[in-house]
Amino acid sequence: MPEATMEQADLLIVNTSQVVTCAGPGPRRGPAMRDLGAIPAAAVAVRAGRILAAGPEPALRARFAAAHELDAAGSAVVPGFVDPHTHVVYAGDRVAEFEQRIAGATYQEIMAAGGGIASTARATRAASLAQLVAATRPRLDRMLRLGTTTAEAKSGYGLDPAAELRQLEATAALDASHPVDLVPTFLGAHAVPPEYHGHADAYVDLVVAEMLPAAAAWYAASRFAAAGTPMFVDVFCEAGAFDLAQSRRVLEAARALGLPLKAHVDEFSELGGLALALELGAVSVDHLDVTGPAGVALLAASPAVAVVIPTVPFNLGSTQFAPARAMVDAGAAVALTTDINPGSAPCPSMPLAMAIACRYQRLLPAEALVAATLNAAHAVGLGQRVGSIEPGKRADLLILDTPDWRHLAYEFGGNLVRTVLKAGRPV
Ligand SMILES: [Zn+2]
Repeated sequence: MPEATMEQADLLIVNTSQVVTCAGPGPRRGPAMRDLGAIPAAAVAVRAGRILAAGPEPALRARFAAAHELDAAGSAVVPGFVDPHTHVVYAGDRVAEFEQRIAGATYQEIMAAGGGIASTARATRAASLAQLVAATRPRLDRMLRLGTTTAEAKSGYGLDPAAELRQLEATAALDASHPVDLVPTFLGAHAVPPEYHGHADAYVDLVVAEMLPAAAAWYAASRFAAAGTPMFVDVFCEAGAFDLAQSRRVLEAARALGLPLKAHVDEFSELGGLALALELGAVSVDHLDVTGPAGVALLAASPAVAVVIPTVPFNLGSTQFAPARAMVDAGAAVALTTDINPGSAPCPSMPLAMAIACRYQRLLPAEALVAATLNAAHAVGLGQRVGSIEPGKRADLLILDTPDWRHLAYEFGGNLVRTVLKAGRPV
């Protein structure tokens, strides 16, 4: 084709072993989670931060005149990871509790003694906006180096009106200044703060009457609303956190404000939060470690994404993993996350979440990759924007250090991500 009739591209990624596109409708469920749309020896064309095309290299070379070429040196290319459930915005750490747990204390015993979420809430309340941003940025750096290009980020360590808004503001400041794109979630109902101890209903009153409307107003004026990025509302439905009736109040109030829903359910006990969240149309239901066969059947019949979190049982030394194999076999849409947080999962690595899911939850590497990319994007409402390598989506992709992408799950403890491209640029 003569040069003059060729389409212009900013960038052509060439000399790949394969491009694993994960392209197509999502979220993928059941056997479709094994369909990766891998194209051997493919190239990817990018313009203005978006993907123009992915396909066999000779065909793309004939079609596009590219200003730059990036040589993948015979390695595999996969979509950037989307981490759909994080508590990455916080101050302080809980390394002392890590030692207590090794000595035998359970997560719930530590929580009952004023540790756990309450301990991070004390540190986060005491931090200024600038301190919160500065504490979080290195964690986002580590996530990015490990291939995460988009991440959800929850509030829930402020637990009062001002500190919750400050966490959301920190999320917006980081989204504006860090290559990882963030999706905010308001999680005011994460824990009952100490000043409401024994008065959880009164705290729920505060969340519903004051904090949620303030968060909704903040969102409406935020960079996220301007960009069409949703803000979710989440609740921790669990013994010692919020019971079923309290969770319903929070989620119904959020829905009345027009905000999409998520819920932490079935982490330690099946309180009925899963059925509640699905009834109210939650976009995702997260944790699901103790979900039984009835819950798996509910998930298979629901459009919601089941976000499973293998890093948490791993970190707690538990073998009670969410039944992700049964979920996929039943036809549910499963996503993976790190849940990066200072207590139950101080882990920035989506490849490690994949590695654990393959070993303990019996996901195949292909299912784990779809769960970490396309399905995770749908879990945060961005399934049309990121999560796969297809025309029109943001050019967030990873050049690996291996020709066989399955090494992402097969190896563990290292980092097989050689180059991260964010909106078509190496970062
Ligand atoms: Zn969580």
